[in-house]
Amino acid sequence: MRVGLFGGSFNPIHFGHLRSAEEDREALNLDLVYFIPAASPPHKTEGDLAPAEHRLAMVRLATKGNRHFMASDVEIRRTGRSYTIETVKYFLATLRPPAVLYLLMGADQFAELETWKSCDELVSLCNLAVHSRLPEGEGGPPKISLAALSRFGYIQEEDHYVHASGHTLSFVPTTVLPISATAIRRKIQRQESINYLVPSDVVDYIQRHALY
Ligand code: ATP
Repeated sequence: MRVGLFGGSFNPIHFGHLRSAEEDREALNLDLVYFIPAASPPHKTEGDLAPAEHRLAMVRLATKGNRHFMASDVEIRRTGRSYTIETVKYFLATLRPPAVLYLLMGADQFAELETWKSCDELVSLCNLAVHSRLPEGEGGPPKISLAALSRFGYIQEEDHYVHASGHTLSFVPTTVLPISATAIRRKIQRQESINYLVPSDVVDYIQRHALY
């Protein structure tokens, strides 16, 4: 089984997340993609972070129509800071039969990989797939340098990189939808429409619970 792990604050989940995960799934031939809301994301301040149960409920609503998509509460159940290394170890230990794991992330997250807890161990435990976030040269994050890639132990092979552990790093070109949860929260605060940025069930949920 080939499984994608897609973590984030999902505050709230939006079509940028959903479409890129769908294109990752197709490109990598994944059987399942787990969407994993963080209890307390290490790189975010908590200011306007909706309670974890609400973010999980919105992820459930947004993914329910796709049989390849699953919501996971593993990080929320763990509480405290959500470190990806622990999540990857959890899936490696519990998935039956053992799965080939792909950690999915946007290019903005990948550019910060060196700041992640136990990043060297992380890249030795699973495959990484990095999808497009913003058009190049339009305010997108700087690409991680080739020097950094070789520091992690990656060697370039045709269209992807291979780690000494045998795990790969691939860049998946996906449709760029320049949507961010920050912009969505801002619109809600200004009482502007968020229709067609997030699934309609999620719009209803946000209204019903007066989130943001
Ligand atoms: P915020 O605006 O609150 O920082 P966000 O919209 O960036 O949130 P996150 O939940 O922080 O969303 O992101 C989770 C993952 O989804 C990250 O790997 C990020 O790169 C990716 N991602 C977020 N938005 C998009 C998008 N529009 N297109 C592709 N990937 C995205």
